[in-house]
Amino acid sequence: NAWWSNVEMGPPDAILGVTEAFKRDTNPKKINLGVGAYRSDQGKPFVLESVKKAEQLIANENLDKEYAPIGGLQEFCVASAKLAFGDNSRVIKDQLFATVQGISGTGSLRIGAAFLAKFFPGNKVVYLPNPSWGNHTPIMKHAGLDVKSYRYYDSKTCGFDFNGAKEDIEKIPENSIILFHACAHNPTGVDPRPEQWKELSSIVKRRKLLVFMDMAYQGFASGNIDDDAFAVRQFIEDKHNLILAQSYAKNMGLYGERVGAFTVVCQDKDEVDRVMSQIKILIRPMYSNPPVHGARIAAKILNQQDLRSIWLKEVKDMADRIITMRQQLADNLKKNGSSKNWQHITDQIGMFCFTGLNPQQSGRLIKDFSVYLTQDGRISMAGVTSKNNAYLANAIHEVTK
Ligand code: PLP
Repeated sequence: NAWWSNVEMGPPDAILGVTEAFKRDTNPKKINLGVGAYRSDQGKPFVLESVKKAEQLIANENLDKEYAPIGGLQEFCVASAKLAFGDNSRVIKDQLFATVQGISGTGSLRIGAAFLAKFFPGNKVVYLPNPSWGNHTPIMKHAGLDVKSYRYYDSKTCGFDFNGAKEDIEKIPENSIILFHACAHNPTGVDPRPEQWKELSSIVKRRKLLVFMDMAYQGFASGNIDDDAFAVRQFIEDKHNLILAQSYAKNMGLYGERVGAFTVVCQDKDEVDRVMSQIKILIRPMYSNPPVHGARIAAKILNQQDLRSIWLKEVKDMADRIITMRQQLADNLKKNGSSKNWQHITDQIGMFCFTGLNPQQSGRLIKDFSVYLTQDGRISMAGVTSKNNAYLANAIHEVTK
């Protein structure tokens, strides 16, 4: 039967398409700056030492493969909440967190979206920064929420449009939902400064908005997990009962293990219990319960002091390598004689750099230099190495002359 003859061909995924084209290219100098996964300075995928050690310990424990509870591994969930809020947070001390294990950041966002769609008593509209991670809109819409945006990126400065953001947020109807990238904004690499976060927090409070924090890069931006949690902790201090999606894809390099967490910060213990019960009811028909292996790894790393110390150093090393590549790229552009202002390359933070290249210039990078990136001019700094840095700088200079 021709059940599916009416199914039209869908468009290819924008980012996976870049990798496909990269694979077909035979130029030995080709560089893939599309994909958002960390690479070593040799350009190779990187498995953290702390992860290998945790896996060894887990293997020695001879654990069974029984189902996790619907909400995932308890010791992982508690450790994850502590990592986000800090051990001394009132949220931790008074046990005000309803946390479940999610399928990495995406799945955790999706649980959050489902929870909002069913229970949020205000406007079921999520305001996203413009631009935002390409999957935010489909995730929210898939759950039945509406999506609107607030100004975020200033293409003139390649920096944060603080005034634009404030103006737009002031106008968001009360009792709506606002999403923030907690740190290392994707795709722009542009984060508000601490004082700016404080101001945003107070405007959001005044406008009575529910805050949805997406923290996919804790530790990856600055190299320090506490510094990168500044926004989350500031909003908590300002008494926002926010909701939070966390991912361990980048900061532990657990991409394919799909480890994440979703948290609702509640007013009291009774609310925690009620919220937890409903989140589990939402999860059960979606995927029943989450996978155990990655969460066991993350829990070991977070809870066992020796592994945690190794991990903290590895997070810093990854962040530092990226920061060094930014500096070298800016220096190499200058050496090549570029008279353009490239300060945003070093001002921006995290995995991505929004170069400011327009779609034509980005197209030329691909066509003439085999440097692969997305149309919006975003490059993944993780794909830049000490070996290909000068080549990349020359290519960028050539297309921006
Ligand atoms: N949120 C943001 C802003 C991201 O950039 C990403 C990954 O690219 C994610 C969430 C979730 O990724 P994952 O589902 O792999 O954890």
